Amino acid sequence: MLYLSTRGDPQRRHFCEILLEGLAPDGGLYLPERYPQVDAATLARWRGLSYAELAFEILSLYIDDISAADLKAICAKTYTEEVFGTKAIVPLKKLEDGLYLEALSNGPTLAFKDMAMQLLGHLFEYELARRGEQLNILGATSGDTGSAAEYAMRGKHGVRVFMTSPHGRMSPFQQAQMFSLQDANIHNIAITGVFDDCQDIVKAVSNDLDFKRKYKIGTVNSINWARLLAQVVYYFAGYLQATKSNTERVSFTVPSGNFGNVCAGHVARMMGLPIAHLVVATNENDVLDEFFRTGVYRVRGAADTHETSSPSMDISKASNFERFVFDLVGRDGARTQDLFGARLAREGRFDLGADPGFAQAAARYGFASGKSTHADRLATIRDTFERFGVMIDTHTADGLKVAREHRDAAVPMIVLETALPIKFAETIVEALGREPERPARFAGIEALPKRVQVMEADVAAVKAYIVQICG
Ligand SMILES: *Cc1c(COP(=O)(O)O)cnc(C)c1O
Repeated sequence: MLYLSTRGDPQRRHFCEILLEGLAPDGGLYLPERYPQVDAATLARWRGLSYAELAFEILSLYIDDISAADLKAICAKTYTEEVFGTKAIVPLKKLEDGLYLEALSNGPTLAFKDMAMQLLGHLFEYELARRGEQLNILGATSGDTGSAAEYAMRGKHGVRVFMTSPHGRMSPFQQAQMFSLQDANIHNIAITGVFDDCQDIVKAVSNDLDFKRKYKIGTVNSINWARLLAQVVYYFAGYLQATKSNTERVSFTVPSGNFGNVCAGHVARMMGLPIAHLVVATNENDVLDEFFRTGVYRVRGAADTHETSSPSMDISKASNFERFVFDLVGRDGARTQDLFGARLAREGRFDLGADPGFAQAAARYGFASGKSTHADRLATIRDTFERFGVMIDTHTADGLKVAREHRDAAVPMIVLETALPIKFAETIVEALGREPERPARFAGIEALPKRVQVMEADVAAVKAYIVQICG
């Protein structure tokens, strides 16, 4: 399988060549040349496989530069009951007839990003050892991404993580999760500023090409193809649990920010998994809901980006969305370059409302969307707890609220649970008047010693710190 860029660069690459990269050289995102096809007979064969075996079957359709034996071993050591808490890895929880939650958040940091990041940690270690190289991952986080990256890379050979976060702005639980790590290759940098300051620092360091090369700076952001590919697996795992035959259809509702998670659902559907609808759920930051309603994609400014109680979906633009639009415009690289390269830079928006492709978003690709607000989250958390005794987090609540608006009695609906409530305790207390349940392994983590450097929002200071650590 070869990979191409969404912006038309004729160069084709293998999986391991793009594994450690972010954007393609022309500024586009990587996608496979074609989507491998899966039919009812394949699904029948995959029923009864363990999650790790299923992951191997799907990944091996996309990766031909790691041997089958090695890839199998990587999947087997990634998706274990020990790391993800259950044998099923992503168990379905039935709320009522035809309505399920798929638990993606029982990994080390209690958010769905572990599903992909844990695999990435093993793939990075494998590929860096094979090349005899080192990598210094520099990132910015407002919570979930940074901790998932740190827990995936801790103790891995050949990798260091430098993670910037806005000082004092993450939830106490999230701070404790990250800062209590004592691994020598994990470096927390708390910036006295906001998340945008952290992102600006990462951009500035990455744009200094000499520094980037000399200190082998890389990233693990959500546009990485390997992360997206890892997420395709749980759509299959959810489908196989919710159905008995291999032709029944199901729908998924996906709490969305950067369009990474639901883009993996799009890939699964393009492979032939019988998905009726992919419902995109946003919070008040409704860039994606606006697109699927109107065809207008409009990037928001900082003043227009709301801080909400489902903070991992507080985005101004959806960084993976270009992949879907590339498919929507018939995989026309020049057109995608015009939309994302030229038009967004010039006008901050584009409008596909009158485009024949836009009508296909719903009819051909199965997309639908909806939006949820703080009041909706509180009501959904309360209702779900009262009726089913199930406590859900704020992001999952956005998903469930929107899912209920898109129910079809004949098609089971699976809502992806993207985090556990303990990560967003303040809103749970507001909704339920009680503290969320806490998994036993996280008892008292707020009191553990913290390992973090506090710094001003100063690019030179962050660079000097990296130089000092890398020696
Ligand atoms: C990252 C995240 C999301 C959004 O996922 P995308 O892939 O960016 O759409 C939703 N919920 C939680 C809890 C997250 O951490």
